[in-house]
Amino acid sequence: SPRPRKHFIETAIDEDLQAGKFEAVHTRFPPEPNGYLHIGHAKSICLNFGLAKNYGGTCNLRFDDTNPSKEETEYVESIQEDVRWLGFQWDELQYASDYFEQLYEWAERLIEKGKAYVCELSAEQTREYRGTLTEPGKNSPYRDRDPKENLDLFRRMKAGEFPDGSKTLRAKIDMASPNLNLRDPVMYRIMKAHHHRTGDRWCIYPMYDWAHGQSDSIEGISFSICTLEFENHRPLYDWYCDSLEIHHPRQIEFARLNLTYTVMSKRKLLQLVKEKHVGGWDDPRMPTISGLRRRGYTPESIRNFCADVGVAKFNSTIDVVRLENSIREHLNRVAPRRMAVMDPIKLTITNWPKDKVEMCSVINNPEDESAGKREVPFSGHLLIQQEDFREEAPRKFFRLKKGGAVRLRGAFIIDCHDVVKDDDGNVIEILCTYDPETRSGQDQSGRKVKGTIHWVSADHASEIEVRDYDRLFGVENPDAAEEGKTFLDYLNPDSLTVRTAFVEPALAEAQIGDRVQFERVGYFVVDPDSKAGSLVMNRIVGLRDTWGK
Ligand code: ATP
Ligand code: MG
Ligand code: MG
Repeated sequence: SPRPRKHFIETAIDEDLQAGKFEAVHTRFPPEPNGYLHIGHAKSICLNFGLAKNYGGTCNLRFDDTNPSKEETEYVESIQEDVRWLGFQWDELQYASDYFEQLYEWAERLIEKGKAYVCELSAEQTREYRGTLTEPGKNSPYRDRDPKENLDLFRRMKAGEFPDGSKTLRAKIDMASPNLNLRDPVMYRIMKAHHHRTGDRWCIYPMYDWAHGQSDSIEGISFSICTLEFENHRPLYDWYCDSLEIHHPRQIEFARLNLTYTVMSKRKLLQLVKEKHVGGWDDPRMPTISGLRRRGYTPESIRNFCADVGVAKFNSTIDVVRLENSIREHLNRVAPRRMAVMDPIKLTITNWPKDKVEMCSVINNPEDESAGKREVPFSGHLLIQQEDFREEAPRKFFRLKKGGAVRLRGAFIIDCHDVVKDDDGNVIEILCTYDPETRSGQDQSGRKVKGTIHWVSADHASEIEVRDYDRLFGVENPDAAEEGKTFLDYLNPDSLTVRTAFVEPALAEAQIGDRVQFERVGYFVVDPDSKAGSLVMNRIVGLRDTWGK
């Protein structure tokens, strides 16, 4: 397909490179290690790593680990695994916490320049003094302390002399600025907390805005790409770099990815995990990368989805059907076809020689000739889907009915002549004859039938567990909860149905992570819960978008 028109970030990069503002494209993906990555992060990953690749530049993975209270090593590891799985390799792996010393020195530099001060207002007072969008803020009574005193107090903050929350370091900018972020933002707070990497070495921790841009600068980032909610933080980003007279990256904002029928905030995802509404971060219903991986999504399908959604300047919500279509489209090309019967009924071929087994050669993937064929055992005792048979059916029912004929995929045309019923009158067995002249691929009979159905040989099939997943939430936007409700009230109670399926013997060799198309049913993946001899498969997505119909 032709390369799409450049998006606004590429245009901005082109301008800056041409103007000589930067020599190369250095981007970074900066997650806070306070949860697992989700599909929104995938968009940011594809964008940052993708730009570096397209421009022959570099992209760092940087852990924005400046808030010790919510961060854990488990997250640091899962994030690396997920970025790699998506198909990207960082140039440098960095931790903002490694810059604590440098940040501290720079803070002292701002104090010396009279651009930062130690403030003793409480958190609540600080908020009050800050003013509102319509009202200017008030100067803190500590704002005009002289640099010497500030330096002394700041050093003692660092030394642990003061209790948590008793003092902050604030940038001295403009309490009347129309931009609230510029009303003397807090740079450091006192927090005697254990950090997952720096241990107990620090008891003052930098605020996000102070740490983020400086980390970008230290790494020589040229384009600091972030989501729209940081647009009005950009003046502060610029103020810090300018005041320190350090390398000054260009911040560019783009719209977050939102998806229907799910939530994407890490706080909410954590709550789903902690309260056991799902089996874990990698539950196949979660919008996390690890959940999508376990669900059976391929890295390629996620990358294609992100490219297809594109980069925008305005927030919007993307229909999850587009994500589902991206995996359908990929698996249609690459997934081998197999036969599985979910809701079986016996079908006996009355003219088949007793105990005879014949192998049928069945095409693995009509979209990919190189996938070849496989041998599927055919016998006189078969299973088909109940829904593929009706004793009496309207003319347009192209599956099997009494007195009718159908083709068994890869095998023969069969004619149904009778049924066996239980005492209640339910059909429990279908009796058919096969037509030996109609073997698939060698059919010289000239017979035509309208329908083809799938089947398995009852004695050769293995029984597996199938987990049929549906959307985690029953409404498009669970974030928009009605009064008195939370997003949890919109969980879909039927998001998981466990069934049994009978599958052809070729599945016996399937490995964890293998994906197949069960013909006429959907795409499935082998779940890590599988054990030798007891396969568990997750439904990735149905063949067509039939949700809600
Ligand atoms: P959350 O609100 O879920 O905690 P976050 O933005 O705080 O998300 P970070 O770990 O800070 O999460 O995100 C790392 C990077 O991923 C940031 O640059 C952020 O802008 C980007 N990102 C996060 N969520 C999305 C999203 N939904 N769409 C696009 N980019 C995102
Ligand atoms: Mg963040
Ligand atoms: Mg966050």
